[in-house]
Amino acid sequence: MSRRVKIPDEPRRRLFGNRYVLPQRVTAALEQVFAEPVGGVVVIEHSRYARLHRGICATTRPNLILLAISGAAFVADPELLLHEYFHVLRQWATAHLTRWRYVVESARCGYWNNRYEREARAFAAGAVERYRGYLRDR
Ligand SMILES: [Zn+2]
Repeated sequence: MSRRVKIPDEPRRRLFGNRYVLPQRVTAALEQVFAEPVGGVVVIEHSRYARLHRGICATTRPNLILLAISGAAFVADPELLLHEYFHVLRQWATAHLTRWRYVVESARCGYWNNRYEREARAFAAGAVERYRGYLRDR
């Protein structure tokens, strides 16, 4: 492939990072916790877009998790993993969370205290032992 062909993709790649595919055992354990397929969720590692959100190592959109960190570091942190999948599967996918609502809620309560973050943290804290158990059974 010539260099000329690659150039248009380069800024996009730098902004959005690389797709990371979860290890099969992690996918399987997540599917047990959420009782639904998770294969439709795209995970992007080393995303500059995620890094633009100061102090946050991941951000989500419908069916998408953008990581400022590596995919391996993401998988190594089960609470973070469950937290982000909760945003995608239980908030975005159900239209419970919309960008507008999140902005309104964050402006009112700040990042840490907004209800979407509180819900995701509570879910992750409650599910992490179950998740570790499923992972061990593999
Ligand atoms: Zn969150």
